[in-house]
Order: sequence, then structure tokens, then C-alpha cells
Amino acid sequence: ADAFISMHTYDLSKLPPEERPALLRRPVLKSDEMMAKVKPIVDDVRARGDAALLELTAKFDKAKLDSTVVLPPFSAESMRIAPDVQHAIDAAYRNIHAFHAAQADAAPLVVETMPGVVCSRFARPIARVGLYVPGGTAILPSTALMLGIPAQVAGCREIVLATPPRPDGTISPEVMYVAKLVGASAVLKAGGAQAIAAMAYGTESVPKVDKLFGPGNQWVTAAKMLLQNDTDALVSIDMPAGPSEVLVIADHTANPAFVAADLLSQAEHGVDSQVVLIAVDLTAEQLRAIENEVDAQARALPRVDIVRQSIAKSLIVKAPDVAAALAFSNDYAPEHLILHLADAPESVAQVENAGSVFVGAYSPESCGDYASGTNHTLPTNGYARQFSGVNTLSFQKHITSQEVTAAGLKDLGPIVATLADCEGLTAHANAVRVRLRALQA
Ligand code: NAD
Repeated sequence: ADAFISMHTYDLSKLPPEERPALLRRPVLKSDEMMAKVKPIVDDVRARGDAALLELTAKFDKAKLDSTVVLPPFSAESMRIAPDVQHAIDAAYRNIHAFHAAQADAAPLVVETMPGVVCSRFARPIARVGLYVPGGTAILPSTALMLGIPAQVAGCREIVLATPPRPDGTISPEVMYVAKLVGASAVLKAGGAQAIAAMAYGTESVPKVDKLFGPGNQWVTAAKMLLQNDTDALVSIDMPAGPSEVLVIADHTANPAFVAADLLSQAEHGVDSQVVLIAVDLTAEQLRAIENEVDAQARALPRVDIVRQSIAKSLIVKAPDVAAALAFSNDYAPEHLILHLADAPESVAQVENAGSVFVGAYSPESCGDYASGTNHTLPTNGYARQFSGVNTLSFQKHITSQEVTAAGLKDLGPIVATLADCEGLTAHANAVRVRLRALQA
């Protein structure tokens, strides 16, 4: 138990190309197995609604409830929190709100593609959204902020926030306080696959939603994946989720204590957390300084037992220069990317795949996790190649429209009729020609 807490080291300049994919890979999620396990829970909630929810909550969360949903106005008692925590939540709310309000697609996009042919696109909120705030092992008001604020600024009509109750049947007052701030229309006291199913199908007391958001354990994730393919539920999800990750790139200007602290802040999440350090042209001595800091700081953490396991599975990758480091990072596509580099701001231009970037020595991931303004619900498992993190547009959809004038149709109509004829769709062509004839007459 007293072994030095250290990561495995690889050298990119010496690594055979065929070994590179293994360094980029995350542990495989056994999703088929989990889907089979959540299916009976999902089916039970669909069939029996609130009765199933109450039973499952008694079984998994050890809470005996009379009702599943709390509606606003929430009682002052249920939201009683320490003043310093309230001030911190309020300040985080303001920053996250400012950044997400600026993202809202407020003005329509209008383009006249030909004279008299006007195409436009405008955004509308997704009417009903379900936000899952994990609660099994920790209270997470930060996740309630990160999901609730974009829903609020997007203008979602119904915001259902689900989180597992504590054994006494209550929800943590910090989460209830955030539910009030973001204008939640209902708080569902349930967790896991049963909470996801209740929001996807609706029950006697739980409103059915159109889109599901939020992180959670493998029960939550599997239920979201199952339900997004269910044409009866007709629900979409934010993104596929996996264990949290950080990739830190450090050069000789990096402060070893800062680098170690950033690695550990990720490693303490869970035993399956993914932590990668790319050391850019560091001397053996510089690298050892970081490794010594990791060991020393880890030993002082309350969650040192978790850290021992996650750090043991973590990597140090030696890179000859910043370009090689960023090429590896882009292939890895980390959820969080921290740049401890002399020219950190300039290096951002080379970032192609990442959920969120933390630029320079004084931008720890923790700031983005809680309160700077950016969202912390981000793509993991390499999905940063094609997914964005949760943002205000995640809570909106876009509608396109067109308005063609008579003069516009005279120009556009023959083009459309020719293409319709080419595809053999005569009724399509007729819809144009009947108008062109009317205009000639
Ligand atoms: P959770 O709320 O995700 O899950 C708790 C629920 O899991 C319970 O209510 C129960 O219904 C269900 N469950 C547990 N064991 C079960 C079983 N054997 N059978 C059926 N259902 C079962 O809380 P958690 O478990 O503490 O997990 C939190 C997760 O969220 C972690 O994986 C953590 O990494 C992740 N997380 C991610 C972020 C992020 O933003 N990326 C933030 C916070 C937490």
C-alpha cells in the first residue's frame, strides 16, 4: 500500500507505430451487458409508472417515499444552505448564465439565394427537457447548474430535474436551491435507469420529456442509450457518456505542483478516471519533479485509495515537441485538455479535438468544472472528435423556412422541374408548372 504513486511512461519518439492505438484507447464499456440489465427496469417503469418508481427507489436508494415529484414553489426548508455556499452558487450561476445566454441563437439567419428566393433558419427551444443530476455517492449542485442554466436561457417550457433522494427521502438542499434558480418545473426524486425511463415515457406524476441530458453511472448511461432508440419514447439524448478524462501537456515552463494537482483532480473522480500527461522535451529531472509532486500530493488526499488505482492506469507520454504533443492529443480527443506551455494561447490554434481547453498555468480544470462559465458536461471516450459539450444550442432545435416570390419562382421553377423530371417525380414537377402556367396566363 505504500508503493510510490506513479504513472506508466512511454516515449513517442521510440514508440513503434503499431503500439500507438493502445495508448489512445479507453477501457471498453460493456454496453450490451448493461442494456440487458436496465431493460427490465425501463419496462417496469413504463408499465407501472409511479408504483414502479416508488418501489425501485425504496430498493436502490433506501428511501420510502409517498410521492415521486416535488413541484415549485419549493419550501425554504428544502433549500436551506450555508451562506458561503449560497454566495458561491450565485456567483457560479452568474458566470455560467452570462456565457450560455451569449450562445443562444436569438436572431434568425436570412439568405436570399436567388432574387425572390429567401431562405431562413430560426431556433426554437426544445419544449420539455429532463436533466439527470447524479446523486448516488456525492451531491452535485454543479451539474444541476451546468444542465439547468442552458435549458433556462434557451427558453425550455418544462425543465424536469431528476436526482436520487437520500435515505430520508429528501434531496440535498444545494440541488434544490439550484432547481429554484434555473426555474425547474418539477424535481423527480429518483435515480438510475428508473429516473431516465420515467422522464422518457412520463408517468402519472412525472411529465414526459423530449430530450434527456446529464452524466451518471452505467445504469443511467445504458438507460439513455436504450431509450434513444425506442420509437415509442421518442426522446433524444445529449451525448454518449463514459468515465471522465484529462490530458495535460506540460513543457519546461510548467510548475510541477500545478501539473500534479491538475492530474490528481481528475484521478480522484473514480477508479476508472483517465489521466494522461504529455511531457514536452522535459529532462529526467523535470519529469521526476512532477512525479514526486503526484506522489506527495496524492498521499495527502482523502480519496487516496481511489487515486492509487486511477493513477496506476494512467500514462505519461514523452513528446519531442509541442507539435507532436498536440498531434497525440488530437488523436486521443480528450474531454479536458490543459496546456501548461510557454506559448499556451498560441497552441490553441493547433487543437482539433477536445471537449474543453484550459489555457496556461492559472486555468485549472476545476474553474470550468464549477464556476468560470463554460459547461462541464463534455464528450468523453474520444467522442470529442464529433460531439460538442452541452451548450445552449443543445436545448434548441433549428427550423428552416423559405418564401419564394412570383418573380423568384419564374427563375427557380424551371430548375426544380428539370430536377424533378430527372428523378421521375412528376407530381413534384407539376407543383411548379401549375404555378408557372398561372403566372403566364
Ligand atoms: P448516479 O446518480 O449516477 O446513480 C445512482 C443510481 O444508480 C441509484 O439511484 C440507482 O437507481 C442506480 N443503481 C445503482 N446500483 C444499481 C443496481 N445494482 N441496479 C440498478 N440500479 C442501480 O450516482 P453514482 O452512482 O454516484 O454515479 C455518479 C456518476 O456520475 C459517476 O460515474 C461519475 O463519474 C459521474 N459524474 C460525471 C460528471 C460529469 O460531469 N462528467 C459529474 C458528476 C458525476
